[in-house]
Amino acid sequence: MKEISQHYADVVALAEPTRIANVPLDEARGLVLGADVAARFAIPPFTNSAMDGFAVRAGDVTPGCELPVVADIAAGNHSERPFAPGTAQRIMTGAPLPEGADAILQVEFTRDAAHNMLTEPPATIVPTEAAAGLTRGTHVRTAGEDIEAGAPAFAKGTRLTPAHLAALAALGHAEAPVHERPRVGIIATGDELVAPGEELAAGHIPDSNSVLLRHLVAEAGATPVPFTCHSDTVESFLKGIRELLDGVDMIVTSGGVSAGAFDVVKAALASLGVEFTKVAMQPGKPQGYGRLADSTGRSVPIICLPGNPVSVFVSWKLFGDPILAHLFALPERSYESLFRPAIAAAGWSRKPGRTQFLPCVLNDDDGVPTTTAPTPLRVVPATAGGSMSHLIAALPLATGLARVPADVAEVHVGDPVDVLVF
Ligand code: AMP
Ligand code: MG
Repeated sequence: MKEISQHYADVVALAEPTRIANVPLDEARGLVLGADVAARFAIPPFTNSAMDGFAVRAGDVTPGCELPVVADIAAGNHSERPFAPGTAQRIMTGAPLPEGADAILQVEFTRDAAHNMLTEPPATIVPTEAAAGLTRGTHVRTAGEDIEAGAPAFAKGTRLTPAHLAALAALGHAEAPVHERPRVGIIATGDELVAPGEELAAGHIPDSNSVLLRHLVAEAGATPVPFTCHSDTVESFLKGIRELLDGVDMIVTSGGVSAGAFDVVKAALASLGVEFTKVAMQPGKPQGYGRLADSTGRSVPIICLPGNPVSVFVSWKLFGDPILAHLFALPERSYESLFRPAIAAAGWSRKPGRTQFLPCVLNDDDGVPTTTAPTPLRVVPATAGGSMSHLIAALPLATGLARVPADVAEVHVGDPVDVLVF
């Protein structure tokens, strides 16, 4: 049987980062910059006030003195009047500092402060004792103090968070040069499948894998492109594959890869160069992977997962997510880096032979559920049923997968185990 780490390396190597395109900021969250981005505008773009108050010359301000207020500057406006020494101009947060003023006297440090913020500016203001410390630059935000126009802002390879997108907007950009959001074609196979919610004829089951994969793909930030193929005929499956291929960056199938008489995926794709293999893991042993050419000859990675829902889930976590990360142009991760050390807080036994991935609940030291506590996390099996691959109803309880080495038959309380944290 094939080593899991070898299969991981093989499937991750199938994918290349998607094309670079200019994508509107509204659609760029989670995408990775394909080029360095520089500031079009400085931040702030002009010198402005950090407080509601009065633009002054610091040297003019002594507690108890009287300064005439000769202008009123709201955010979005600029002063109509050149600044004259010995005067003040009322100014709101974010409004441009008039040329010649060098400090902001905050309104709280003027006498009769409430009156000074009425719609009409006061004729004069009188600084209080609190204004004694005012110096040049007090509450002034200088143009370019965050970043200068033209300066490098974010490097190629940066994954865009909401904060990056806000910064890009502030820097004058409406779009970002990113690797396009990967589109993932999803195709579930099986004569027994019906759409969710439909009544079941004898032998039929709802197609839950399509739902699972669609949302795992979406959760990873990619765009799912589902295709319904509730059939085990090679013709209808291949028709589905051909329809999907042209518009996607990767395809994932479920079912039809094991040793059954009607294993359509294997029957249809083995002759097209897709490799089918047995990986030394439980669940998820039968796996397929390769590349298929679309109608233009572009080659698209495909992974073929087994049909049992828990197998699909485990396989996606181990192989699907890492391929997607590669399509996104995220840094490459090793197989081992998917796991964190943990400790078994309950024991379980299992049939040795293949590496086990057991859906589990992760707790902190006090038994409180967490996935973020410092190492080591404590691991409890999510279900009494172990990692049986058809137990989908219990899967939502799990917050991670515990990995048990192939030769271990018994996990005892206190044993170290590795976990893949969701
Ligand atoms: P297969 O590998 O096609 O033989 O499928 C293995 C098991 O997974 C069978 O019990 C199938 O009924 C089940 N299965 C396959 N596809 C799905 C699906 N889309 N949703 C739920 N169960 C499925
Ligand atoms: Mg099947």
